[in-house]
Amino acid sequence: MSFVAGLRCKECGSHYRAGKQFVCTDCFGPLEVSYDYGGIAQATSRDAVAQRPHNIWRYRELLPIEGEPATGFQSGFTPLVRATRLAKAIGLDELYLKDDSVNHPTLSYKDRVVSVGITRALELGYQTIACASTGNLANSVAAHSARLGLRCFVFIPDSVEPAKIIGSGVYRPQIVRIRGNYDDVNRLCSEIGSQYPWGFVNVNLRPYYTEGAKTLGFEVAEQLGWRLPQHTILPTAGGTLLPKVFKAYQELKTLGWATGDSRIYAAQAAGCAPVIQALHDGTKEIRPVKPNTIAHSIAIGNPADGPYVLECVRASGGWGEAATDEEILQAIHLLAETEGIFAEPAAGTTLAVCRKLVEQGRIPGHESVVVGITGNGYKATDSIVQRLNGAVVLSSSLKDFQAWHATLRDSGLEPLSIHQGASR
Ligand SMILES: *Cc1c(COP(=O)(O)O)cnc(C)c1O
Ligand SMILES: [Zn+2]
Repeated sequence: MSFVAGLRCKECGSHYRAGKQFVCTDCFGPLEVSYDYGGIAQATSRDAVAQRPHNIWRYRELLPIEGEPATGFQSGFTPLVRATRLAKAIGLDELYLKDDSVNHPTLSYKDRVVSVGITRALELGYQTIACASTGNLANSVAAHSARLGLRCFVFIPDSVEPAKIIGSGVYRPQIVRIRGNYDDVNRLCSEIGSQYPWGFVNVNLRPYYTEGAKTLGFEVAEQLGWRLPQHTILPTAGGTLLPKVFKAYQELKTLGWATGDSRIYAAQAAGCAPVIQALHDGTKEIRPVKPNTIAHSIAIGNPADGPYVLECVRASGGWGEAATDEEILQAIHLLAETEGIFAEPAAGTTLAVCRKLVEQGRIPGHESVVVGITGNGYKATDSIVQRLNGAVVLSSSLKDFQAWHATLRDSGLEPLSIHQGASR
């Protein structure tokens, strides 16, 4: 049973039935799914939801599909990690990491939106699935299409990290590398989408696809016992995730399932920060930029939903900051060294911004904070590799090892005796 009431233009409010249309015919604004919340409140409850399998579809009444899910049966319900060592390092008491770096099956938050987008694509009769991507989306679209046996085209900028190209290629989609940046790829895909009967998950399926991002917000609330965190910090690229987490929190409050208020903060890389620039300038206008940052997965210079990020950040009483590439790398190491989590630069950006907001006093140290860790470091090793402490290379003789270890102890880097070390 579906509780979708229809599509509503985000600009002029015109209503449409939920079909293939994705922009408003009156004003060209984007369309968004609306729901019959009264019906949902009668049909189910948060306690019923809590009994269901641990994947995104446990919130299916709040997702825009008519029939049964087609994919994503292991996607979502990622860990919400209480990060005590990291919290201490940056001056917080209660810090949680929403860890989508281990989302199934392609290790980023994109498995949420793709599971919903492809399920809806099949309902609408699309047989070929496509996307415009900075890398992670292509990985997810390729994987989910493969397991459904669907034809798949992924369009990416030529500069995408090698691991992200391999992470698509292994599923054997048709990869199309475009000489240009993400914004060029996206424009091309809009043109292709208007001429070919293909379901571009983030272009012509965008109203449905983006709804999948709400599940990150639903999960955070549920994992905190249905109390919203006082602060939520999220990365911003095209502007899908942040407004949808805001919508998720509002929906839970509308249904009476969650309590509390969360200020929402946007994080961008300084080398691509058009939304943060507009936020700091106090305008609604977002001026496109040419990206130049190691945070490739969030390097979108002309964000489609940037204005809605601004709206949600302002409406929630939040804020936003940008982090330099150096700050991003430091944050990646800090996260790894304190919590044992290896995240990609998008997540480094978000953590670096969290740190800044605490330093600025915008986030008080004793309040609860959730930071979105949206992607996995193993897919973006290029930027990290130059900064690692060299590993020592030794022969396989114990004598050599002991000689080297003695130099470590002499330099004060090895405080434990050999026997203490061995018995731990
Ligand atoms: C896509 C992506 C984001 C956020 O992008 P939005 O377009 O703003 O939703 C953040 N982090 C990672 C790792 C991503 O792949
Ligand atoms: Zn309109």
